[in-house]
Amino acid sequence: MIKQMRALPPEGLGIVPNLDATFMKDRKSLCSAEEMPQYAAADGPPSNEIFEWSEGSLFDLPYNNKTIRTVRVKRVLFRSNGIIGRGTIVMRVACHCDGKCDWCGKKLILKLSFPAKTRVSEQTFMDRCRELAQGDHAWVLNHLPHIYWTFDIQYSKSTPQANFKKKFKDDYEMRLMRGSIQEELRPLSSLTTATGCAQVFYDVVQCHHRAWKYPQILHRDISQGNILVREKNGEIYGVLNDWDLAIWLNDQRDGPTSKFRTGTKPYMAHEQHGIKWQGPHRFRHDLESVFYVILLLVSLYSSPKVKAVEPDTGGYGYQEWHKQDDEFLEGKKANILLHTNWEPSVTTFFLGLALWLTDLHRGLRRGFARLADHKEAMQEALKRDQEMPSFDYDTLDNHFSYEKVVSVMHRYDDEELKTRGSEWRKTLLSLPDL
Ligand SMILES: [Zn+2]
Repeated sequence: MIKQMRALPPEGLGIVPNLDATFMKDRKSLCSAEEMPQYAAADGPPSNEIFEWSEGSLFDLPYNNKTIRTVRVKRVLFRSNGIIGRGTIVMRVACHCDGKCDWCGKKLILKLSFPAKTRVSEQTFMDRCRELAQGDHAWVLNHLPHIYWTFDIQYSKSTPQANFKKKFKDDYEMRLMRGSIQEELRPLSSLTTATGCAQVFYDVVQCHHRAWKYPQILHRDISQGNILVREKNGEIYGVLNDWDLAIWLNDQRDGPTSKFRTGTKPYMAHEQHGIKWQGPHRFRHDLESVFYVILLLVSLYSSPKVKAVEPDTGGYGYQEWHKQDDEFLEGKKANILLHTNWEPSVTTFFLGLALWLTDLHRGLRRGFARLADHKEAMQEALKRDQEMPSFDYDTLDNHFSYEKVVSVMHRYDDEELKTRGSEWRKTLLSLPDL
């Protein structure tokens, strides 16, 4: 079913060899990945097959009004280790035109992924964020990816995928190839100070909250790789990148969550590793991921760019987290969260973040202890046929809320970090310190 990578033909054909005009659609339909009538007649790209992208290759992609734009691959930046045909590929590209289009001179990446046909595109989520980012809320745009173009390419009817669909009907998820051209951002490793890292983490939490509260989008895949940096007019902004696995908050409870369990393993909330976990995915799960991102960075790195040498830190064991399975990770994370005297091992460079971790840990620990009590109380109430006690699952009864996390992260090493929106600035004035 899964073919080997195939070398690109010497002439460096586009993403879709012999790209036909039937794929070229207007931007609106590209965003929502609708089934267009012309697909029925069209030949799609070969199923489950990824080409070997080599530096210098040219790629044609469908653009507006039945035109094509061509980009030249400069470097493959990222390729996920998933099943071939489902993973994401990110390449640094440059516009290859006569030098007159709006992509020329910009730092661009081309991202290709292979989502289920029904999956809402990152572009759709970002468009919604943009619509609501007016006036006082415009700050959030500095913390979101800038997507210049998105296109979807469907698999053709003659592929194995289509045959599976015929056979398994609703049990088989049809996929498509989704591409986007985006602004290239800098990795976390490009930062030079711990304060810079702290600001970037704080920015990402503010952005996450904004998307959750107004456009009502849940990111669901916080990882070190999805936290990037934008430099604008000499200032650093943390960017919450890659909204490919996001959902509308309204859809939070839909469907069997185990099938759609998302995230990047070392950073997933500990409950999500449980075999019985049925969701829903809540914002606090993403905030727990932020905790692990910081924990792994400050334990494993002696600066944003340099991996710590083993004897330097007691936290070197976290290295294992990148290779282990759900059972292992659930155990390790639960051990941390339930431990009353837990202390992080932090490299010297990131010493100031130890306080953040201890404070965030306290919130999580108290919250989960409270949850355990609540579960017991529920059993009791059930037995005695009494009224069920209440519990706020979103915030672990207020022990791990956005307010708690922001009240920890707005300050680093006795210095006030930048709080981006006036809403949080007001809230902070009224929040007691932890
Ligand atoms: Zn151009």
